[in-house]
Amino acid sequence: MNSVAEVFLAPGAPSVQRCARCGTVRDELDAAPACPECGGLLEILHGRPVDASGNVLDALSIKHAFAQHCCARPLGYASGVWRFESIVMPSAGSAITSHPEGNTPLLSRAALSRWSGVNGLLIKHEGHNPTGSFKDRGMTVGVTQAVRVGATAVACASTGNTSASLASYAAQAGIPGLVFVPEGKVAVGKLAQTLAYGARTLMVRGDFDACLRLVQESARELGIYLLNSINPWRVEGQKTIVLELLQQLDWKAPDFIVLPAGNLGNTAAFGKALRECYALGLIDRLPRLVAVQAAGAAPFAKSFREDFATRYTVAAETVATAIRIGDPASWDRAVRAIRGTNGIVLACSDEDIVDAKVVIDAAGVGCEAASAASIAGVRRLVADGIIQSADRVVAVLTGHVLKDPGMLIELHQTRADFANANRPIVIDANVAAVARVLRETQSLSITP
Ligand SMILES: [Zn+2]
Repeated sequence: MNSVAEVFLAPGAPSVQRCARCGTVRDELDAAPACPECGGLLEILHGRPVDASGNVLDALSIKHAFAQHCCARPLGYASGVWRFESIVMPSAGSAITSHPEGNTPLLSRAALSRWSGVNGLLIKHEGHNPTGSFKDRGMTVGVTQAVRVGATAVACASTGNTSASLASYAAQAGIPGLVFVPEGKVAVGKLAQTLAYGARTLMVRGDFDACLRLVQESARELGIYLLNSINPWRVEGQKTIVLELLQQLDWKAPDFIVLPAGNLGNTAAFGKALRECYALGLIDRLPRLVAVQAAGAAPFAKSFREDFATRYTVAAETVATAIRIGDPASWDRAVRAIRGTNGIVLACSDEDIVDAKVVIDAAGVGCEAASAASIAGVRRLVADGIIQSADRVVAVLTGHVLKDPGMLIELHQTRADFANANRPIVIDANVAAVARVLRETQSLSITP
């Protein structure tokens, strides 16, 4: 692992954006979405944290500052993102646009421990964020940056959780939000939140690639700030999933952190968070990162089995729509994250993912389908003997159960062949009918 001098700039130095490919360094307030020299992805580097007098903060002082911020008012610091400001966006000042977000729970449920095979399995549920997904952590930082660079509008090409989050934070910041989607190829349910929060939804005559091209050209020519998945400030916000869970564990690193993997933005962000925490001495050992893909969208898992010798793209197909991605954008950063943590990448079938989702939902926790990949992955690695039942494991759920109501209605009401369907029951309006249902329910063997 890298030393603190390799991971951070000089103590108190202003943050910069650096091209991961050619090393070109740009000012932190440069609004270009990628390296203007070579087109490579940008990443953020911060100065090593210092106190008000410019003295380097040791690990204990940094932890103390984070803890103080937990209960602070005004709300900016009470956010589960902005409490970690010193290693997310130290110069944000009064520009912060915060709901607040984060502060998501670390849950444990006997049913999930039993099903996964890990005694003390912990669930970090990012569906508890304000718009129902982890995207809010990156978006609060991305929209704050848009305010700082004086953007006239913010935009993304996405049909899912990113659009909803962008719409919410753009509304709060008072900046117009634009969402680009291919005309006629979008499920209205996915867009409901985006429309409600007031983002302008542009139905582009063309496919998704045409949307991506158009949003990029518009950003260049019209001064619109791009908040797509490769925006480096969104990565800084997403790091706080790991920072917060480590803080919840009193900075005693677990053995494994398991997450769903599609575009690989979180895998990259988790790797960066762990690198920085270790370099600052906030943790004294590194957890192994486990990235779980859906079998029908698993180019990264295939590459992992060959020690990342080849970068693959696939035609992606899975019920886990939030990770249905065939050509992940944050590939190189994610390779670094997996290598740097002795990590693991695997793929689970749609059947395994749906099985996991049913158990998570029935435990009263609930999650979006893609989220369930993480717990399906834990169960697989226990079966393979890689995770032991006594290991300390945190599995991340990325989205709320209500993100995909169509799937729930199909499973429980429409589909004829689903064994665990919990069908609604039509009854006459009398107590005897209720009593009959109650008797039947109580006679069923209930597995908590
Ligand atoms: Zn470059």
